[in-house]
Amino acid sequence: MALMITDECINCDVCEPECPNDAIYMGAEIYEIDPHKCTECVGHFDEPQCVQICPVACIPVSPDHVETRETLWQKFERLTAAKKAAEDAAAPPLGAA
Ligand code: SF4
Ligand code: SF4
Repeated sequence: MALMITDECINCDVCEPECPNDAIYMGAEIYEIDPHKCTECVGHFDEPQCVQICPVACIPVSPDHVETRETLWQKFERLTAAKKAAEDAAAPPLGAA
């Protein structure tokens, strides 16, 4: 399941750097989570890091993005492959044209 940030968010900034998927960003008024990037920390940690650290407990599961653990794993693998492709494109291996 992807998580979401409710309007109880106090913009304390602590969750954004903790997300291993760069899924958290500053929205129009409060922080938001990109559901396409949030794996509920599956693939990285046992527990959602943002939930662990949020001082006001305003990060529930998004009812619009209910996913199984298997689906979250697939999302993690997709994100990892995309990140690697981006890194390879930015820095071609030695000997590449
Ligand atoms: Fe990022 Fe994990 Fe929070 Fe999802 S649960 S927004 S992946 S820190
Ligand atoms: Fe908002 Fe919680 Fe993130 Fe702080 S940790 S910015 S209160 S969602």
